[in-house]
Parts: sequence; C-alpha cells; structure tokens
Amino acid sequence: MHEMSICESLIQVIEEQAKTKKFNRVKTVFIEVGPFAGIEIDALKFCFDIVCRNTLIESAKLEVLELPGKGWCFECQQEVNISDRFDPCPICNGFSVQSRGGDELRIKELEVY
Ligand SMILES: [Zn+2]
Repeated sequence: MHEMSICESLIQVIEEQAKTKKFNRVKTVFIEVGPFAGIEIDALKFCFDIVCRNTLIESAKLEVLELPGKGWCFECQQEVNISDRFDPCPICNGFSVQSRGGDELRIKELEVY
C-alpha cells in the first residue's frame, strides 16, 4: 500500500517544519491531492492514523482538499476540466486533451498549537 509510505514522508516533512518553526503539536494537517495522483483518500486517512501514533501529530486531523482535474484541449484551444487523465474534452468531446499536473500531493497548511 503506497499510501503508507506517502504518510511516512508527510510526517518527515512536518517534523522538519516543527524544528524550524518551533511547534510541538499539530492540530490539523491540510493537504492538497491532485485527481490523478492515484491516491485512495480513505486509505490515506487510515494510514495517517497509524503512522502518526507516538509522533507530534498524534491525534491530528487530516483534511484532504481534492484539486480539480485540468487539461488543455488542442481543438478548443482552452483549458478544460476533466476528472480522469484520459477523459475526452467536455466541450467538443474530442480526445486531443492533454492533462496538466493533477498528480500533486502537498501540504497546504498546518494548524499547530
Ligand atoms: Zn475540446
């Protein structure tokens, strides 16, 4: 389950920040996840609860903000919203859509004590 290793690296990042920004406890972790990141949000939350035991983010809440999918349609010459990497263009139904980003996973904000 790769959600487990994602959680472990999230915690590493947060622990680094705790050292530089000098906080000891985290209340809420806000993360942004792209629609093409291939992450199961439920699995991520499940792993987060396990991995954060006995760390400074123990009992912290994980808030996941799902980013919309974006692509560029070469036919319409504009940015369109897509929910899957291989979706057709919602305007012209063509398949000349190139997905843009969408596989990001980053910490947006930390609410600390
Ligand atoms: Zn189009």
